[in-house]
Amino acid sequence: MPSKAATTALKNFSDMAVHLAARQADHLMRSRLQLQSAQSITPTVDGQRLLSFCSNDYLGLANHPAIAQAMKEGIDQYGVGSGSSHLVSGHHREHELLEQELAAFTGREAALVFSSGYMANVGVMSALMSRRDTIVQDRLNHASLIDGALLSQAKMLRFRHNDMAHLRRQLGLAMGKKLVVSDGVFSMDGDCAPLLDVSRLCAEHAAWLLVDDAHGIGVLGPHGSGLVNAVGLTSADVPLLVGTLGKAFGTSGAFVAGDKTTIDYLLQTARPYIYTTATPPALAAATRMALTLVHGADAERAHLQTLIGHLRQGVRHLGYQLMPSATAIQPILVGANEAALQLSAQLRARGLLVTAIRPPTVPVNTARLRVTLSASHSLAQVDQLLNALADVT
Ligand code: PMP
Repeated sequence: MPSKAATTALKNFSDMAVHLAARQADHLMRSRLQLQSAQSITPTVDGQRLLSFCSNDYLGLANHPAIAQAMKEGIDQYGVGSGSSHLVSGHHREHELLEQELAAFTGREAALVFSSGYMANVGVMSALMSRRDTIVQDRLNHASLIDGALLSQAKMLRFRHNDMAHLRRQLGLAMGKKLVVSDGVFSMDGDCAPLLDVSRLCAEHAAWLLVDDAHGIGVLGPHGSGLVNAVGLTSADVPLLVGTLGKAFGTSGAFVAGDKTTIDYLLQTARPYIYTTATPPALAAATRMALTLVHGADAERAHLQTLIGHLRQGVRHLGYQLMPSATAIQPILVGANEAALQLSAQLRARGLLVTAIRPPTVPVNTARLRVTLSASHSLAQVDQLLNALADVT
């Protein structure tokens, strides 16, 4: 359990040092690694080359030469900065084309590109919902969805993770416009939302559905078009689809896709879209190249599935506790914060980078090693991880 001092908000500015000391004592201090190379499955970290199982670069595109080249050419043509927000003079043809291509990719009428997934979620929810409305969310939804609901001032009801009976009960309590919000693939557990059931309940209660498919887009569904398309839901079922570009796409940013009226409305009203500098046009050019590669990456997606099966079989055989995930996110449940940190350190000593995830990012007593796989990994590299896990048991 984190101590009270580590979990309560500051009452005085002078409490900061006390808070930090409590965090340290509870093994909850957050820290950053320093990469000295490109993001890849073998980054150089603090001077050491490691085999990494902790990026969201699911298709290995973060350092892809064709995408890097598109960005370089974009810089040569358009410079490094957009110079302005979208609604002043920062909106570029490259942004416009990227939006059209993302809309076509996801089978939606239109799309709006945001600077990050965090901003997209906060922007959509705060633009569409108000204090007269109700947002119903899965308990394990990403922090940006929680923050978006808070900013909107709507009443927020949460339902137990993937518990449809609880969702139904909460929908029964909702007032005003109703918006159900769920991660597609849950970022810290790797399991998928039961979207067919969620969407049926939304239809029964005249609620709209927002799916944040940050970890599904590029990886799941036809041509990587995401979990929503993989389960056969349409724009009518999921009016608000959020995808991020900093994960499987390998670049940065995010988009919201939907019907034209919704996207037009967001363009007028989503403050995190309006009041911020547009991303560099060169980044949009790079992301357009990434989209072409994602679309054609069926072999990589198939390889990723093979790796997932291989890892799960091996980890289970070693007696570690996996979570019910069929995706590239394969957490190994540890429980105690200190034990998770220790396991991560033991793997690091063997040349492997796997980060420990602790509360408040995950519930108390569910600290875990969040293993993520990339299509760039080979079966032999997954075996390297399995051998190291066998070594430290
Ligand atoms: N949604 C989910 C489910 C995520 O995991 C993340 C990133 N960790 C985000 C949104 C935020 O995306 P971004 O990193 O582009 O801000």
